[in-house]
Amino acid sequence: MYDVIIVGGGPAGSTFARLLDKKYSALLIDKKQGKEDFRKPCGGLLAPRAQRALASLGDTLPKEILVDPQIFAVKTIDLKTKLVRHYPREYVNVDRHKFDLWLMLKIGENVERKIGAVTKIERMENGNYQVTFSDGENLTTAEGKYLVGADGAHSVVRNFIAPNFRVRKYMSVQQWFENENEKPFYACVFDKERTDCYSWALVKDGKFIFGGAYPEKTARSAFEKQKELLAVHGWRFGEPIKTEACFVLRPKNGKEFCFGKENAFLIGESAGFVSPSGLEGISSALISGKDLATAFNLANGNEKTIRKSYNRKAKKIKFRMLLKLFKCIPMYVPFFRKIVMKTGVTSVDVCE
Ligand SMILES: Cc1cc2nc3c(=O)[nH]c(=O)nc-3n(C[C@H](O)[C@H](O)[C@H](O)COP(=O)(O)OP(=O)(O)OC[C@H]3O[C@@H](n4cnc5c(N)ncnc54)[C@H](O)[C@@H]3O)c2cc1C
Repeated sequence: MYDVIIVGGGPAGSTFARLLDKKYSALLIDKKQGKEDFRKPCGGLLAPRAQRALASLGDTLPKEILVDPQIFAVKTIDLKTKLVRHYPREYVNVDRHKFDLWLMLKIGENVERKIGAVTKIERMENGNYQVTFSDGENLTTAEGKYLVGADGAHSVVRNFIAPNFRVRKYMSVQQWFENENEKPFYACVFDKERTDCYSWALVKDGKFIFGGAYPEKTARSAFEKQKELLAVHGWRFGEPIKTEACFVLRPKNGKEFCFGKENAFLIGESAGFVSPSGLEGISSALISGKDLATAFNLANGNEKTIRKSYNRKAKKIKFRMLLKLFKCIPMYVPFFRKIVMKTGVTSVDVCE
């Protein structure tokens, strides 16, 4: 029996768990490091907002988490118009798995940690939640007064509290290769024939990663076709070392966010907090985890006060995500993208 059960120990869940006051007993369940060695498929780029969120927590990144090379420009390619531009970007390139494990290490002893995948959630007569999770061999149940969903795009907590809730989502496919490209680069590819979202390529410690976000049904064929098209542009893929796939949410209006219900709360991507322009989600995961912990700590266990305080903060994150929809116009509407790329607005000159 715990005050709070947290499902998911990514950036959102770890940040919430780390900042939750010691007066609460808590259990964090995460499937990472389990039998299947789950690793979150991700570009692992920390945007300036994520860097600011970490700074607000007093964090600096240990060098073991950083990967080579660090990135300060993105090569943007429009496959239809064949336009190529470089834009300055201040990202920090990290090993995403190590980053998640490092965030988890900061969690205090008041939060018990269990490795396992949550398979079932039930609401009990007393209003508490009973959560069942499996470590691959044994099923365990735990009971909590509050439930926090920090379990990402495919959230079991969100599916439980809001089964009819829908958010626009894409299937993201990503492959890793030994890097055979002469110069390491970070690229962003627009290809409206295959997806109305985008694809990316980057290098991490000698590995070349190519991935994209596609409509679910055509994801794999679109991904393979793009590899063919980009090979014509000189990109070298070789034999894949590993292939990853998972959903990524991309909210398209104000209705596609869910902060939770009663004494169940959603943070990070499970709440829909992903930028619809760049699919950047680590910053909002960190910020919403911090916001919910602040709401818990100030409210002293009063359910309505926690809800009111978190909703107010979450609305600000949502507003920010909605502002990003405006950025989608010059990025994703081919006519406007062509104008932006042709005029070279804010681009940098690169000699290739
Ligand atoms: C391919 C790809 C590339 C991306 N690149 C970037 C990028 O470069 N920069 C960026 O900022 N954002 C990126 N994003 C988005 C970013 O990864 C997410 O928005 C961010 O990870 C959300 O953090 P979170 O803590 O909310 O959820 P997650 O990071 O998804 O963490 C969820 C956690 O819950 C656990 N979990 C899930 N289900 C269960 C369950 N049933 N039981 C127990 N545990 C469970 C998982 O183990 C995981 O640790 C990318 C997304 C994708 C798909």
